[in-house]
Amino acid sequence: MVVDDDDDDDDDSNDNNSRDDNRPGAIDTRAQSSDPPSISSGREAIESSLRQKVYVEHYPDVRAGAPIDDEVVPDANPFSAAHQGNPYLPFMSEMDWKIARWAKLRGQGSTAMSEMLSIPGLQDSLNLSYKNSRELNRIIDHQLPSHRPRFQRAEIELEGSTFDVYYRDVIACIRALFMDKTFAPYLVFAPERHYSDEWQENRLYHDMHTGKWWWTTQTQITLFGGKSMYPVYITIGNIPKQLRRKVSQQTQILLAYLPTTRLEHIINEAAKRRMVLNILHTALREILRPLHKAGLDGLNMTTGHGMTHRTHPILAAHVGDYMENIAIVGCKMGECPRCTVPFNELGDFELDYPLRNLREILDALATYDTDRNSFAHTCRNAGIKPIPHPYWEDLPFVDIFMVITPDILHQLYQGLVRHLISWIKKSYSHEQLDARIRCLPLNSHARSIVNSHGLY
Ligand SMILES: [Zn+2]
Repeated sequence: MVVDDDDDDDDDSNDNNSRDDNRPGAIDTRAQSSDPPSISSGREAIESSLRQKVYVEHYPDVRAGAPIDDEVVPDANPFSAAHQGNPYLPFMSEMDWKIARWAKLRGQGSTAMSEMLSIPGLQDSLNLSYKNSRELNRIIDHQLPSHRPRFQRAEIELEGSTFDVYYRDVIACIRALFMDKTFAPYLVFAPERHYSDEWQENRLYHDMHTGKWWWTTQTQITLFGGKSMYPVYITIGNIPKQLRRKVSQQTQILLAYLPTTRLEHIINEAAKRRMVLNILHTALREILRPLHKAGLDGLNMTTGHGMTHRTHPILAAHVGDYMENIAIVGCKMGECPRCTVPFNELGDFELDYPLRNLREILDALATYDTDRNSFAHTCRNAGIKPIPHPYWEDLPFVDIFMVITPDILHQLYQGLVRHLISWIKKSYSHEQLDARIRCLPLNSHARSIVNSHGLY
């Protein structure tokens, strides 16, 4: 696998250049020039002038992120040992595996495979380890070595109701990503400061380990509707973002399904909203509980290359859309979930208000245990909703107002595009906007999604 700057999941690979020559009015530049510059070299020339040298300042303590001993664990993956001699285990042979794969790619409801295997003698002569779909499913469910930890179920009880949470052990998820052989050559462990100039005046920020947070946290340590479910994914910042953002690389693990419920038995709307928040935070607190001890004391983790590192898994970013962000930090609708900017100045450019005051907010939240009668009042004064114990309350090294981060698709792209479109319509009229859109070149990648999550 090669890591490059092109995102091959949604790369639109420039093949427009060769495709539309038969369009009426298309100009064939190749016919007009005797020695046309090739498309790729032209692109390289333009791109290389955009690339600049990066000046890297490494973290002064060389122990930061370094493997803790020189001993290489031969193969950290417990499944690999059993695979020696037969890479297709738990299947008996390449054919056994290929037929299983074919059967599964036919779709779940397909009965073709069971029908075929019911032909007398076929299973024996092909030497297959299953004689129908049911047996194949059993192998897949129970014998397939999984890179992902198993799900567990917990019940949370709040005010007399119980809710189911399905989740995976958070430390096991982190370990699974950490030890994945695919990512091993690319993992980053130590913070770095990147600059565009050798005088270190212009800092560049582009991945988690180049940010201020990683550097300062390293310093502290050297020392992360009805009956439907709400999925939560987890990843680790050690995996560079070129990999992390690619769906095909499977760098995100489904950590949990949080309960979503309409709470129809609660009539009072305010009480219902309080309860929804309470369920969210109680479930996340339960799921992330292992991060307390692991974040403070650290854990040994082995990469896919067999190098063992001392790690402190700390909640670094909680990505969500605006509604999710305000539920996480417990602020009011319409407010900035990170800083103290007043509502009427939200549209002003270049304002720099301080982050919300975590210390003050934690003090207000603590009155839930010490002075419950004034809890709601104290919280309101501190600018937070009265959530008994928000999940981030005592996670080590976590300032939730730095941790929450907008979801790029729903908040930035969708939110900004929607905002921009309404602004353009107002400024230039519907007709102008339509006329401009009609002028766009043909593009087979553009999609119009009309319902629910569409842009327009
Ligand atoms: Zn703000």
